[in-house]
Amino acid sequence: MDLIKKASQIIKESNYMVALTGAGISTESGIPDFRSPRGLYREMPEDALSRDVLLGDPERFYSEGYIMLKELDEVQPNKGHLAMAELQKMGYLNEIITQNIDSLHTKAGSDRVLEVHGESRGIHCSSCSYQGPFSVMRDQVDQGTVPPLCPDCNRPLRPNVVLFGDAMPPAFDQAFRAVEKADTMLVVGSSLRVMPVAYLPRQVNKLIIINNEPTPYDSIAEVAIHVGAGKVLSDIVQALKDA
Ligand code: NAD
Repeated sequence: MDLIKKASQIIKESNYMVALTGAGISTESGIPDFRSPRGLYREMPEDALSRDVLLGDPERFYSEGYIMLKELDEVQPNKGHLAMAELQKMGYLNEIITQNIDSLHTKAGSDRVLEVHGESRGIHCSSCSYQGPFSVMRDQVDQGTVPPLCPDCNRPLRPNVVLFGDAMPPAFDQAFRAVEKADTMLVVGSSLRVMPVAYLPRQVNKLIIINNEPTPYDSIAEVAIHVGAGKVLSDIVQALKDA
């Protein structure tokens, strides 16, 4: 049986499926991933998006890590995100757990999305309860105000992304509970090397992995497909429609 058919069959037979997506599902939208040979880590040091740099060296945060957040504002979903939204509408996909901060699942029309590393469309104050859109931060940084300041209390603002050194947000607990209910997990575009999220695939019975390169979990997966996510996910949706 070919791999697309096998994956579709498992999806059809699943009772509760969750997806776990990583930076690889968004490369076809033009956002580089982190760890593949052309990934962001070649250009940007890992700690540029850290809590220590945000608090201790805001000039560096807003000239390095912040640039990536700013660029995400204009990016559009690709056929992989659209296919996953369709899998949800067809009733095959219960929850999407994403490590991505780019909001592309939401822009593609998915509604049950757990953003375990936060999201780049919003900001909040580090001191008071102020919350606002990313544009409030962008406008201040564009005018040279670094760090950007809360309109209510004048203390530093921060993005809603989970930085290295931050605690995991409530979405992570929700993701854990969703995985407890699941019998099947569809992993898309993740190297499965970032903890604690990379722990989740161990909790399900059946694993389908779609990733350009091998992952540490391939040997326990029912199916591992090493081809670009957009085409594979579209083919799976088509196979489910044809069945
Ligand atoms: P990663 O960079 O560690 O792994 C991405 C994987 O996707 C790689 O193994 C790569 O081979 C594969 N890949 C690349 N393009 C693909 C495609 N078209 N189809 C299928 N596979 C493809 O990413 P990760 O596991 O998500 O961990 C990186 C962390 O960095 C995440 O926690 C995430 O929060 C953050 N990040 C987010 C974005 C984003 O929001 N789009 C981008 C870069 C990094």
